[in-house]
Amino acid sequence: MKSERMDPDAVELAPLPAPVDFESDMDRPVPFDAGATVHLDCPDAAAAPWLAAHFADWFGAQAPRVAPGPAALPLRAGDEAYAVSADASGVRIAARSLAGVRWAAYSLRQLAIARRGTLRTEGRLLPTLRISDAPRLALRAVHLCWFPETRPERIERAIRLAALLKFNCAIVEPWGTFRSARHPWFGWPDAPGTPEALSRLAAIGCDLGVTLVPQLNVFGHASLSRTSSLKHAALDLRPEYEPLFEPGGWNWCLSNPEARRVLRELVDEMHEACGRPPFFHLGCDEAQPPSCPACRRRPYGELVREHVAAFAAFVRERGARAMVWHDMLLDRADPRWAGFVASGSPATATLADTLPRDVVVCDWQYADPDPKRPRNDWPTLAHFLGKGFAVAGCPWLNFAAMEPMAAFLAAHGGLGMIATTWHHLHGTDWRDIFRTAACAAWGTPPRPVAPQFDTAFAVALRLAGRDAGISGYRDTGLDEDQITLP
Ligand SMILES: [Zn+2]
Repeated sequence: MKSERMDPDAVELAPLPAPVDFESDMDRPVPFDAGATVHLDCPDAAAAPWLAAHFADWFGAQAPRVAPGPAALPLRAGDEAYAVSADASGVRIAARSLAGVRWAAYSLRQLAIARRGTLRTEGRLLPTLRISDAPRLALRAVHLCWFPETRPERIERAIRLAALLKFNCAIVEPWGTFRSARHPWFGWPDAPGTPEALSRLAAIGCDLGVTLVPQLNVFGHASLSRTSSLKHAALDLRPEYEPLFEPGGWNWCLSNPEARRVLRELVDEMHEACGRPPFFHLGCDEAQPPSCPACRRRPYGELVREHVAAFAAFVRERGARAMVWHDMLLDRADPRWAGFVASGSPATATLADTLPRDVVVCDWQYADPDPKRPRNDWPTLAHFLGKGFAVAGCPWLNFAAMEPMAAFLAAHGGLGMIATTWHHLHGTDWRDIFRTAACAAWGTPPRPVAPQFDTAFAVALRLAGRDAGISGYRDTGLDEDQITLP
């Protein structure tokens, strides 16, 4: 497909993540404007109206026309597969589902540049191109922590960016920022995450192909605050709720039926606000042993099993599958997991045998015990897969692990990957987490970044910001500020 390049260093633009098969030639640009027709071949009746409406949102009066009809492009396997071609004969998209059409549209949108030679945009150009694409993992999630410091605009932009990078799930964990109607004491005053705000984000995600999954920690992490801060989003300001928590407030008091009731009502409220998605994340990591007399009265493992199983069942009654972090399901002293888990005890590890198998185990591996060795063995992932759980790998900043972890999960029937961001939803860590995990989960290697400026990520980030309606300095780019003043 390549024409002879005038400049051998010229950069060929590519979408993020790179498609499995991708050929393009910007020396042979193709008009992508109001005079162009996109021939769409998709059996899903919702696909053509969705594409036309989004082209209108993105390109206004310069939007190309959408015409359903045969595209005669070969498709890879899978519901999310798509194929695209653009050349002198026009632009064609083929897909089996609206999901595939969305991914095709996001690839085209990242590639479409303004026509040259004018002051303002007057139509767009695509390179002559051919794409055949499909993801290797079914679940491609980001995990977004909504701190009091995280302005809602940034959560919305992260969800929109996740969609453009072809993630299909966003787990949103409010850190004291969910404003419960039934339990207004739960969280910081004037928390921005009202049920209406969650509903709005869920609707945005749903339209874009990203399922919003709420998270509530029903075991440890009950402070809803970073460990090092020693803040507690309930007890600092409302100490009368002390009986709901173990002394100090890190764990919920699992033997208190009132704690169970409050948590059920919160799960219900959050799940409802998010439009009853097919998953609910229950947290359950890094809990402490019990200290209150009621919880000490029984073997703690029994109490934990009963508690987590009750919530998995409660979530199932609501038509969803529970997600839990993996660490309490292992004994950290077991030599088989050396370097792969830092919490969990013989008491809590029994969960791995007793939890219902519809629970999704989210196995976080944030440090490689032997980073010099190519990692083809993932003992904890294999352990949970062997027990029949759906398993998602979570690499956070463990960038070198992302590709081999995704490859392992794809080869062994794993469900997918969750790109956890924690307190790094800003700066180059955010960029590297989203980019590297998107590529790993999709199954294509990250392309080399041209020197000085990361064009592909900047394009996607700017599009997400534009869609989120940002109007000020702070919500552009990776960070709210470029420099720190003394
Ligand atoms: Zn207790």
